[in-house]
Amino acid sequence: MSDPKPARFDAIVVGAGFAGLYMLHRLRGMGLNAHVYERAEGVGGTWWWNRYPGARCDVESLQYSYSWDPELERDWTWSEKYAAQPEIQAYAEFVAERHDLKRDISFSTSVEAAEWDDAAGLWRVRTSAGPAEAPQLILATGCLSSTSMPDIPGREDFRGETYHTGLWPHEGVDFTGKKVAIIGTGSSAIQAIPIIAAQAKELVVHQRTPNFSIPARNARLTDAQREAWRARSQERRAWARANTRNAIVTTLPEKPVLEATPEEREAEFTRRWETGGITFSAAFNDLALDEEANAYAAEFVRERIREIVKDPETAEALCPKDYPIFTKRICVDTDYFETFNLPHVRLVNLRETPLETVTEAGVRTSAGEEAYDAIVYATGFDAMTGAILNIDPVGKGGRRMSEAWAEGPKAYLGLMTAGFPNLFLITGPGSPSVLTNMIVSIEHHVDMICEQLSRMQARGATRLEAQPEEQEAWVAHVNARASATLYPRAASWYMGANIPGKPRVFMPYIGQDEYRRKVAELAAKDWPGLSMGKGRAASDAAAG
Ligand code: FAD
Ligand code: NAP
Repeated sequence: MSDPKPARFDAIVVGAGFAGLYMLHRLRGMGLNAHVYERAEGVGGTWWWNRYPGARCDVESLQYSYSWDPELERDWTWSEKYAAQPEIQAYAEFVAERHDLKRDISFSTSVEAAEWDDAAGLWRVRTSAGPAEAPQLILATGCLSSTSMPDIPGREDFRGETYHTGLWPHEGVDFTGKKVAIIGTGSSAIQAIPIIAAQAKELVVHQRTPNFSIPARNARLTDAQREAWRARSQERRAWARANTRNAIVTTLPEKPVLEATPEEREAEFTRRWETGGITFSAAFNDLALDEEANAYAAEFVRERIREIVKDPETAEALCPKDYPIFTKRICVDTDYFETFNLPHVRLVNLRETPLETVTEAGVRTSAGEEAYDAIVYATGFDAMTGAILNIDPVGKGGRRMSEAWAEGPKAYLGLMTAGFPNLFLITGPGSPSVLTNMIVSIEHHVDMICEQLSRMQARGATRLEAQPEEQEAWVAHVNARASATLYPRAASWYMGANIPGKPRVFMPYIGQDEYRRKVAELAAKDWPGLSMGKGRAASDAAAG
């Protein structure tokens, strides 16, 4: 039997999260025949998969939503300041229906491989449903979509129920009457723990590294709040894009903490703590830059933890002390620390009693074995590169992305990698992505990709490629920006530190406002780092 004939498109998009959905809409608008492959059975990406109890956004919903269609904003009603997963997933569904996107999406279909055919000027893609090909391949595969299961010996032997927060069963899980172990204390665990605790007979939290967390102060939104946002949202979003590092509307810090009096310091930290949410980090403008400044913010949060948690030993174990605050994504919680005051919730400090094995019955630490009905792994993701390297695209000369990125990911503007023509990344490494309100960064990248495709159309070019020298300079610039801050001081997933063997490189670009300025300058110079070509190699046949 001969191989089936490949499905032929102008552009193939992988992933139907917020990035893939907007990309498809824009490609259609350009008159291109685009198709999306998505391994899930529906749209929403992150919000399709992360259905663990308590999952919700940490950027306010009014802002954590698309800006490209004002009618979406007019017709969608967010119920809470921080919407929960079902509502965000329903929003993705609403957008897909409103713009009739699903007819160009193949669900339950994984992209398994992709290879650039230089002679044909095509990406040849292998999907679980058969082959496909297109001159343009766009990876909207997500920065936090490749779940990471820790390599703990005996994990497969456990006879009870096993869950990962990022692959939560759609029918939900009933923990009533059960003794549950949770492993991990990152953002996912911090959201899940209070809700699981409300149900389970007993909950034992296995913590290796404590995290800083700020109360969300979540609340129902009123009509007045929604209307106030709608009236000025375009203006406020534009302000945040132009003036903030993370594209989140907030009041900007007025001064460095090192110039504040003790009273001013306390008042501003307290005001931000009472307001709640991640804009606590914007209390002063030197917090991520200076060790002494950072220590004030860290100590303020530790003091709050000590106030909330009644058992002093547990409180101390929950206080992060060995990395600066804000150098890992700050967590946002509802009653996380309070949960440790409940009589049936206990903390196991894995720094003191390391986790040794998972057994048939439960978990063994150096203090002994304990039996559980269920183990929840809240152990995170192979972030930023995992989903891309799962496909491991093969570029020019048969070179794999895993080879090109052996020392760490290299992508010009976080958008394209040299040697991989016509392959676009949305919020790839080297772009602000995970340090921002991601929907804003997604929209920026989708718009940048469309600009490139329009330039190609206008000049009759068939390929676009990042230039190696410009790419090297960009990667050096990304690293230099990180090195000027405290960020590299934490063993974070931003650094690849959560995955054994992953190169330790700070992956995202710090400062989306600065990134935008750089991109605008490059656009004004007609994109010197991206070469266009017709026919074979871009460098052989520059199209101007
Ligand atoms: P995703 O939503 O991850 O979508 C990628 C899609 O690609 C997935 O559906 C996946 O199935 C699919 N895919 C991947 N590989 C393949 C393949 N080989 N074949 C087929 N399909 C594939 N960001 C914020 O800014 N604010 C928040 O409040 C926030 N909260 C978050 C909460 C959680 C629990 C998590 C995990 C992340 C959160 N993030 C948040 C980050 C979030 O990932 C982004 O905001 C955004 O949803 C990413 O959209 P995306 O389309 O780029 O990627
Ligand atoms: P994470 O931040 O990477 O946390 C993983 C946790 O698992 C850490 O506490 C880690 O400990 C622990 N862990 C990993 N391997 C372990 C092992 N072998 N033994 C013991 N503990 C182990 O993952 P996440 O919580 O899923 O969050 C990832 C990102 O997703 C967040 O940073 C955020 O960007 C996003 N997110 C956002 C929200 C939100 O509030 N909207 C919610 C969830 C996720 P160590 O630190 O010691 O490695």
